[in-house]
Amino acid sequence: MKFSIVTIFPEMVQAYLGASIIKRAIQKGIISVAVHNLRDYTTDKHKTVDDYPYGGGAGMVMKPEPFFTIVEERWPSKEERKIILLSPKGRLFGQERALEMSREQVEIVFLCGRYEAIDERVSEHLADEEISIGDYVLTGGELPSLVIIDAVARLIPGVLGDSRSSEEDSFSCGLLDYPHYTRPENFRGIGVPDVLLSGNHREIERWRKKQSLKLTMERRPALAERHVPTPEDEDIIKEIKEEL
Ligand code: SAM
Repeated sequence: MKFSIVTIFPEMVQAYLGASIIKRAIQKGIISVAVHNLRDYTTDKHKTVDDYPYGGGAGMVMKPEPFFTIVEERWPSKEERKIILLSPKGRLFGQERALEMSREQVEIVFLCGRYEAIDERVSEHLADEEISIGDYVLTGGELPSLVIIDAVARLIPGVLGDSRSSEEDSFSCGLLDYPHYTRPENFRGIGVPDVLLSGNHREIERWRKKQSLKLTMERRPALAERHVPTPEDEDIIKEIKEEL
């Protein structure tokens, strides 16, 4: 799968792409991530990417020309690309969108903003989609582009050593993940739940499901509401409610 990141700070994203699972996925050829410096697509000697806002107000606005130039030069065919503008005003990114994106056949191009805003014509006439990674404002689109690439990449077969890891993650089955433990069995007097040491796989599965359901009901009630329970889930939910 091919990704591209358009930014005025290529070094910021290169550092993240050069380590751990994403680095290995790139080395194995499962994903590719090209990083482009937006300033290379400016025409003046100062490589200007921003200007004062029409109508006045605080901060600078990113000019439309460099964004249009890079897209038209590097990805001229609309059928072979998806242009994603990172923006707090965009559609909220989540696990479902990550899964959809992991099945995309075209190159995904992220346009990273900086300063106060990006000229609105980029959103209206260049981007296919605007995505936000959460209801908070960051200083730039570099972290959001990496967040999305990371979340999407780990869903692509071959990126994680064991694909069950992503299948069992929080949100993948509509619930939060259950608690995990490793050695030592006793850490500073704090033990591990007995059931995990029992060797009884059915009981372990049930305990994990119960923890997932309980955590989701406590911490993310809206997510719990959307979960479609199996008959076994219904029994467990009844048990949790009685305990509460
Ligand atoms: N004035 C803008 C607003 O309130 O919507 C915020 C601009 S922000 C300081 C600069 C850039 O960071 C944005 O153009 C966008 O690319 C990126 N950014 C900031 N927060 C983001 C978020 N939650 N999701 C995606 N991108 C974000």
